[in-house]
Amino acid sequence: MAEFLTTSGISSKIEEIIKNADEHLFFVSPYLKLSRIIRENMFDAIRRNVSLYFVYGKKDLDKDEFRLLFDFSFEGNMIELRYLDNLHAKVYLNEKQMIVTSMNLHEFSEKNNREIGIYIDSNHDNDLFNSIYEEVWSIYNASKKITHGCCIFCRKFIKYNTLACVCKECIDMKYDVGEGRFCHKCGKPYPTVKSKPLCFYCSSKL
Ligand SMILES: [Zn+2]
Ligand SMILES: [Zn+2]
Repeated sequence: MAEFLTTSGISSKIEEIIKNADEHLFFVSPYLKLSRIIRENMFDAIRRNVSLYFVYGKKDLDKDEFRLLFDFSFEGNMIELRYLDNLHAKVYLNEKQMIVTSMNLHEFSEKNNREIGIYIDSNHDNDLFNSIYEEVWSIYNASKKITHGCCIFCRKFIKYNTLACVCKECIDMKYDVGEGRFCHKCGKPYPTVKSKPLCFYCSSKL
């Protein structure tokens, strides 16, 4: 049976969903900010080879958050970041459990807010679980994949564009000559130049 939850129940269920993931985790939340507990559990999931999918809807994604997720995707982990401007739903799920709630991810463990949520286990409510799962996939498919690149001199995030692989600051500081230190695509330390901004691995995958 689906289970009705209030604030503290939602927080502990989200934690449980992350801990129990064997294959994948979806975080669908307009605001994407990860609390420390969520982060720690998320990293454990990554170590178990769980794939992480984030769909968010507010443009001002926290820079630190972005860096963190980006750094983790460097390690070859499956982390996908997507954006959908009219996203308002909040759903958190693994392959067998989900929670549909009013709670944004960044409000996790904030005890003062009055939130409600419904917890669904696929073993008990398979049809309901599948209907919501389909809608999450539809949201995912409608969303735009965030592609990013790194400045080959300072590793700052910039748009992915192999013809413009240097950030504005480095151009202004006239660093845009000579040898770069990072791959424009994956951000790994690698001797690059403006005309060859990708590491061996990334250029072999083009
Ligand atoms: Zn730079
Ligand atoms: Zn690379």
